Parts: sequence; structure tokens; C-alpha cells
Amino acid sequence: MNAHAGVRLLADRFGRRIEYLRLSVTDRCDLRCRYCMAEKMQFVPRRDVLSFEEIEALCDLFIARGVRKIRLTGGEPLVRSGVPDLAKRLGRRLDDGLDELTMTTNATRLADFARELKDAGIERINVSLDTRDPDCFRYITRWGDIDRTLRGIEAGKRAGLAIKINMVALEGLNDDEIVPMMRWCAEQGHDLTLIETMPLGHIDEDRTDRYLPLDGVRERLERDFTLLPMAERSGGPARYWQVAELGLKLGMITPLTNNFCAGCNRVRLTATGRIYMCLGHDDHLDLKSALREGGVDAASVLLNKAMFQKPEAHDFRIAPGAGEPAVERHMSVTGG
Ligand code: SAM
Ligand code: SF4
Repeated sequence: MNAHAGVRLLADRFGRRIEYLRLSVTDRCDLRCRYCMAEKMQFVPRRDVLSFEEIEALCDLFIARGVRKIRLTGGEPLVRSGVPDLAKRLGRRLDDGLDELTMTTNATRLADFARELKDAGIERINVSLDTRDPDCFRYITRWGDIDRTLRGIEAGKRAGLAIKINMVALEGLNDDEIVPMMRWCAEQGHDLTLIETMPLGHIDEDRTDRYLPLDGVRERLERDFTLLPMAERSGGPARYWQVAELGLKLGMITPLTNNFCAGCNRVRLTATGRIYMCLGHDDHLDLKSALREGGVDAASVLLNKAMFQKPEAHDFRIAPGAGEPAVERHMSVTGG
């Protein structure tokens, strides 16, 4: 039992229970993936970022109010020093309200921290890997070193972390690597999720040039592979298939071609303590101020308001030539 026991579980106006918190521990990153960030980014000042103690207090509150899964993300979560220790602290809540603690990472620093993360109670992680071609990887990330990322993934696997590869499908950049990536993931024992590029935040180019609708990709895959739909849903926008010939679990996140908001079970907390109720809307509330000025009880009251404000669905579109992002905020602020 904790201090918040007995308080209302989080549910929105549409009857959706909120059980999943995406927690961005930093908006900073050591890469600059072209679909995610501009090359020159203005990051938030460190003084505005929640301390680990504040993050822990807010996580305790979310858990008390029914959140059962927390994903640490960013930006790149592992560029903030002390994050493995934060994972250890949050990991103490596993089997004490929390069912799962996970992370999304670009794996550049995973070789250093994989073992600690596993020891903290993390069992599964998502790793961004849009290509295994060294030149294409350097181009997409602007300066990333594929060997380092692959070493990180290998270390994660050795530490016993189950790995799901996230691959943003990019027209003319990695579309011809989807099948090789499927084969590689199957060989390595990783799951694979393909993601449609979403119009979040200004980047240095027009995202619509690289937008690759996944319904077309799936049709093409179905000519060569048997895609068996899986019942599993994560409450997010992903659908899963078992690729019979490869023994691969393949996910597709299709917020553009297929909107699955109806089952949404998540909210997002930024490094500066803002809560966003939907990835596709700018609407947010300031949990950090509530916490600093009124303590956990004030933050809890603000969560009620957040539930009332959670929209039914995102409404972003992407159309050739549309250029402008649907929301100003980059994915790295709220985390993927
Ligand atoms: N840095 C970590 C990483 O790359 O895995 C975690 C944060 S990153 C924002 C989380 C996920 O969001 C990654 O899989 C990334 O590919 C994806 N992502 C970033 N910007 C995106 C966008 N505009 N559209 C779709 N996916 C995006
Ligand atoms: Fe960094 Fe992840 Fe965004 Fe790439 S996708 S720039 S690794 S936050």
C-alpha cells in the first residue's frame, strides 16, 4: 500500500483506462535522425528538467493511479547521466503496482549500460535502427556510427534483454532494406516494428518526400510472405503479424494510414514535467509546477484535469507538399 492508495484510477472521458506512461527523461540526443530533428536543435535548459527525485515522485503517483507500464525514452535516455540508476529506483516498483519497465534507445551507449538496465528489472527494450548500411545510417542519423549501434544491440542481447527493432520506413532511403531487416531480425531473435514517419516538429527538410505509407508495404510483403495477424495489441497504434516463413513478429505503426486511437491507454510526460495527453495534439498541463507548488496531491488533482482533456484521437495528416508539421513539438520531446 502507498500514500495514494484508494485514489481514483486514471480514465478519460471516453472510458479509456490510462495504464501506460511514456517518460521522456531528456529531450537531448547524440544523434540527429533527419525525420526526428533538425541538425541544430534548441534543447531545454537543464534547470527546467525534472530531478530524478521528482520523476520518482510522479511515477509513484502515476502507479498509484493505475499506471502499470512505464517506458523510459527521450531524446536519447542514456545520454542523461544517472538514468540506469533511475531505472533501478523505478524497478523497485515492479510487482508493487508496476508490471513493466521498458526503454526506447538508439543503443549508442547500450554496451555500457545493458547489464545495469537488466539488473534494474528491464526485460525488453526498443532500439531504433532504420538501416544496417553504414553510409545510409550515417546519412539518416547525420553522424551515427553503425558499428557502435550494432555493438550496443549485441550487448543488450548478451545481457538478456529482449529487443524490438524500430525502423521508420523512409521512401527512397530504406524501403529496399525492409525485407533484409526482417531476415536479420529473425536470425537475431529480435522483433521488428515498422513506423510511418509522423509530422512532428520542424526538421530541415520536407518529411512528406520520405513518407512511405505502410499499407502499400504490407501489400507488397504479402506477395512473398504469409502475414498471420496476431490478436496482441499494446493499446498503441501498432498492429502485429507473425511472418510464417521467418518466424518473425512484425509490427506496423500506422498512425497515418490507419488510426487506432480508440484503444489508446497512454499519456506522456516530458523531461520538463509537462503531461501530454496525445502525441498528435499540443494540449498539455504542467505537472512540474503543480508538484513544486502543491506537492503530490496537487499533481494528482491536475491528473484529473488531464483525463478530462485527453482528446479522442490525433488528427494529424501527411500529404505530399504539405510540408508543415501537425504539431511544433518534436517526437524527441515526448518520446516515441
Ligand atoms: N532516441 C531513442 C530512439 O531513437 O529510439 C528514443 C526516442 S525516439 C524519439 C523514439 C522513436 O521515435 C524512435 O523509434 C524513432 O525512430 C521514432 N521517431 C522519431 N521521430 C519520428 C517521427 N517524426 N515519426 C515517426 N517516428 C519517429
Ligand atoms: Fe535521437 Fe531517437 Fe530522435 Fe534519432 S529518433 S534523433 S536517436 S531521439
